[in-house]
Amino acid sequence: MQKDSPPEDMKVSSSRGRTIGSFRSMTIGFHWSALVFGVLAVVNLTGVILPALVPSYSTAVYVAVALLATLGLFGSILLHELGHAVVAQNAGLEVDGITLWLLGGVARLESEAQTPGDGFRIAAAGPAVSIILAMLGGATAATLQAVGASSIVVALFAYLGLINLGLALFNLIPALPLDGGRITQAYLWHRDGDRLDATIAAAKLGRGLGWVGVGVGLVQLFAGIGTGFWTILLASFVMRGANSERRAAEREKKRRAQRPTFTNFFDRFGGPGHPGQTKGHPWLGEPIPVKSWEEHPPLSR
Ligand SMILES: [Zn+2]
Repeated sequence: MQKDSPPEDMKVSSSRGRTIGSFRSMTIGFHWSALVFGVLAVVNLTGVILPALVPSYSTAVYVAVALLATLGLFGSILLHELGHAVVAQNAGLEVDGITLWLLGGVARLESEAQTPGDGFRIAAAGPAVSIILAMLGGATAATLQAVGASSIVVALFAYLGLINLGLALFNLIPALPLDGGRITQAYLWHRDGDRLDATIAAAKLGRGLGWVGVGVGLVQLFAGIGTGFWTILLASFVMRGANSERRAAEREKKRRAQRPTFTNFFDRFGGPGHPGQTKGHPWLGEPIPVKSWEEHPPLSR
């Protein structure tokens, strides 16, 4: 999940791609880089995963099942992003649409969540959809196995179940811009009352975890595990995303400090010493958190 108007370095993940459909006035886009992802998935399934899970089928069968599994994978990612997008729409946010690209999917939100609760629900919706799909995949595989279905069909549903579990767990890593990072941001916003500070803290954590990911990827490469390259790519995407969100939050914080608002006026010259008053007056500018009024009552400065 990404917020809109990202800086230049996030362009690939934010461009709409070719429109392949629409849902509730949101466009569903397919960026060309998603083809790279799809081809890699088919090759990996045909050459490695399926022969290991269910040996002794012909290559033609592996290719056919790999194509179905990859379509299921794209469908799973789409449903994950739709989870974010629908909850965001219901919370009153403008959602431009969803794009599938090299590293999965991205929901293009035009505006930010207005409350930490909305932020949490929008972020959690995607992994929640993936967990439900994982359970459906697992249950279908178990049922098919019980009724004696062909082992490669069982393997297809088991794979889809596992891939959705993986999607949920990966996205729950608390590294902005991943969903877990947004949940962390919503929690810090709820706890401390400041959205921008929460974004900056979550972005710092995201960058730190990004470095951990790069380290893991390097260890994988040295150990001869080919997916190390993919791990480094994902980790660097997380770091770039975290850095650009941090810069955007810092810029907004600067603007907020310069903007003459009544809250700043009261803050400086004294005003109604009634903490609750700053809340619920967003048109006066970004309301300062109630907590800071309690710690530094304006009249005592
Ligand atoms: Zn997500």
